[in-house]
Amino acid sequence: MLYSNLSLFMRVLLDFLFAESPRPDDVIAEDYFSSSDEWLRIKVNKSEILKNIHTRVGKEVAHLTYFRQTITPEAKAWNFIEIANEINSAFNSFLEIVPKDLLGTSWHKSMEKEIPPTNTYFVYENWVAEGRKAKIHFGDCSYCNFGKGMHETDNETNGRWLGPFTNFQEAFNTATETGGRVSQCKHCAPH
Ligand SMILES: [Zn+2]
Repeated sequence: MLYSNLSLFMRVLLDFLFAESPRPDDVIAEDYFSSSDEWLRIKVNKSEILKNIHTRVGKEVAHLTYFRQTITPEAKAWNFIEIANEINSAFNSFLEIVPKDLLGTSWHKSMEKEIPPTNTYFVYENWVAEGRKAKIHFGDCSYCNFGKGMHETDNETNGRWLGPFTNFQEAFNTATETGGRVSQCKHCAPH
C-alpha cells in the first residue's frame, strides 16, 4: 500500500514536471509559462534516474505486468533518497523560473518566509497606549515579522505598521513624524 502510494505520488510529480503527452485537463509545469521554451530547456536536463523512474511508475501504476516482470528484485529496492533529491531539484528549477504571480497565495507566503528581505526596518505606531508611541524594529524581529506582527494579522485597531524602510534613519524619521514617543525595540535592538 505504502509502495503504491509512493509510486503514485512520484508519478503525479513527474507527470507535472515532465509531461510528455498530457491530456487536455492535466495541469503541467509547462502551463505556467507563456512560451514553453524556458521550461523545455530545463526539461532537457531530466536525469537518467528520473527517466527510468518516470517510465517505471507510469507503467506500474497502470499495472502493466509485462513490464514489471522485467525488473529484478534488486532493482525493486529503489533508492528513495536519491529519487527524492532528483525530483526536488527538478521542482526547484521550476519554482526558480516560474512567474511568481501565477503561483497561488500560499506559495507566495512560503517563498517570502524562505527568502526574507535583509536589513529592513519597520515602525509600529501605537495610538492606544497612553501617549502615542512609535517603536522601531528590524523586519526580521519576531514581534515585527516584516510588518505582519506576531499573529500575522494586521490589527488596525491598536495601531499600524509603517514600512518597510531600507535604513535606520528613514525609519527613525517616519517614527518621529508620527508625533509619538520614539523608541527602539529591546528585543531586536535596531540600529
Ligand atoms: Zn523588534
